[in-house]
Amino acid sequence: MDIGCRRFFALLKSSDVITRNEKRRFHRLVVLGVLLCLVPSASAAALNHVTFKRDGKTQAVSGRVLVAAQDGGLLVQSRDGMLWTILPEEQIDRAADDVPFKPYEADELAERTLAELPSDFRVHKTAHYLIFYDTSSAYAQWCGSLFERLYLAFTNYWRRKGFDIREPEFPLSAIVFADRRSYLKFSRPELGEAAESVVGYYALLTNRMTMYDLTGVEAAGLNDGRERSSAQINRVLSQPNAQGAVATIVHEATHQIAFNCGLHTRLSDCPLWFSEGIAVYFETPDLSSAKGWRGIGAVNRPRLQRFYRYLPSRPADSLETLIREDGRFRDVERNLDAYAETWALTYFLIRQRPKQYVAYLAMLSTKKPLLHDSPDERIEQFREIFGDLKQLDAEFLRYMTRSR
Ligand SMILES: [Zn+2]
Repeated sequence: MDIGCRRFFALLKSSDVITRNEKRRFHRLVVLGVLLCLVPSASAAALNHVTFKRDGKTQAVSGRVLVAAQDGGLLVQSRDGMLWTILPEEQIDRAADDVPFKPYEADELAERTLAELPSDFRVHKTAHYLIFYDTSSAYAQWCGSLFERLYLAFTNYWRRKGFDIREPEFPLSAIVFADRRSYLKFSRPELGEAAESVVGYYALLTNRMTMYDLTGVEAAGLNDGRERSSAQINRVLSQPNAQGAVATIVHEATHQIAFNCGLHTRLSDCPLWFSEGIAVYFETPDLSSAKGWRGIGAVNRPRLQRFYRYLPSRPADSLETLIREDGRFRDVERNLDAYAETWALTYFLIRQRPKQYVAYLAMLSTKKPLLHDSPDERIEQFREIFGDLKQLDAEFLRYMTRSR
């Protein structure tokens, strides 16, 4: 499977890791109830305690209510940052107390997450991340360093562009399994069969990344059980056969940062071309720098080549269909072209229309969870900022093919 294909599955089950049941639940919340979006600030929200019954099991969640539908449906965020959609008929009891909502501190979250995981898991803590792992500590450190460097490069990049980056409200969690087998066992309940197709994913509801040690047997043909140094890990993962897998991890890590630093709001109607565009713009890993992250905004070769292959059959309304709806990203036949085009569009807009791009980003970042725009509204919002689509499309094609 080539790099883009893996990425596609990563998308379906990542920025989109929501089960079919969850989708039905959102639909119910959106359609049946007129939504009252509360989205309170962390300090103002009271802690709510909701008891509910799902699949015959009674569960309890404490957190802040982000959305209350008129029919009683709730979107609750617990203190670990997870999102819970609870239908009215599932609810048994709901009580609010005077204690204000407060996210868990890193140490408390670490302790609680470790209690959920198999007993041999440990945690590696960095400035923004909690890396839970049952592989070598060197690999956990390698992940922590990769994510922190990406975090720094990503947030600096948008600050320089004039976007108001927010510090994450919750520690960013990643679960790293020692091997693919245990990763699959853990991921299947969340992803189903699609777990087979991805090396890692970011899940919107749990706000976590899940992955496995890529220096194992599958990625590099090496699994001698010895501890590797960071430099050895870098060497193994710089091999051509591992690059796609590392890019997928960086892609997913980019989603997690973007959803936690204020670029997008989880479960809001951020068009896929836009959130995926940012992830593909940043996905090229930099394993050579110890501190920085070179090459942000550089040409993403596999995406560009795919875009060139798409051009001869590209329909006149390609730009419009990309923006109007998310369908092209979800269609197995067309998704690689959609990814290639969204990389090219993001590259073009950031370089040629940077102010408008940031204005559009700022507009999308204020979207509330579970409120959806119609396809026409999406086009209108795009047009308001970037102008006439036909004219933009002509400039876009000229720019992308200027030096072919
Ligand atoms: Zn993605």
